[in-house]
Amino acid sequence: MKNKEKIEILFKDILENLEDSSGGNVFDESMSDTPARVAKMWGDELLKGYLIQPQDMIKLFPNSSKNPEEIEINNISFYSMCEHHMMPFFGKIAIKYVPGDFVLGLSKIPRLVEVYARRFQLQERLGQQIADAIIRYGKARSVEVIIEAEHTCMTARGIQAIDSITRTKSTAYESK
Ligand SMILES: [Zn+2]
Repeated sequence: MKNKEKIEILFKDILENLEDSSGGNVFDESMSDTPARVAKMWGDELLKGYLIQPQDMIKLFPNSSKNPEEIEINNISFYSMCEHHMMPFFGKIAIKYVPGDFVLGLSKIPRLVEVYARRFQLQERLGQQIADAIIRYGKARSVEVIIEAEHTCMTARGIQAIDSITRTKSTAYESK
């Protein structure tokens, strides 16, 4: 079975169990398509990162001039899912890297972010995975990934820290 189908079945089960255990009080007729729609949304969109390989998202160009010394891409938007609460966290990513013999195709960088963001994640791990991929597949010398995100598991529930932003910095270096 494909990963996408597994994800859809998982969410269908969750919603059907909810309906059963509530004695049929959750979904009225106007929501009859909701379980299928939600299951499809998780499989097709929110967790689509499990269906994509990072190396397929990267295109390299020769860095013939050995210039620039540093490349910085700011303000990359992302949406991800907190693995503890299955609630969204979202924000902006800044990536700064020192290229080696290659530079990364610029339009591919937001796609690489999608590969890791569209999974169940922790913000710290999301930053580290992006950094590691830029070293491994982008053949960079060093990279720094800064993520600023709002976690709806903190802002919409729990302590309701409505304006809180979590900032993480992850680094990686080529192995000598
Ligand atoms: Zn959470």
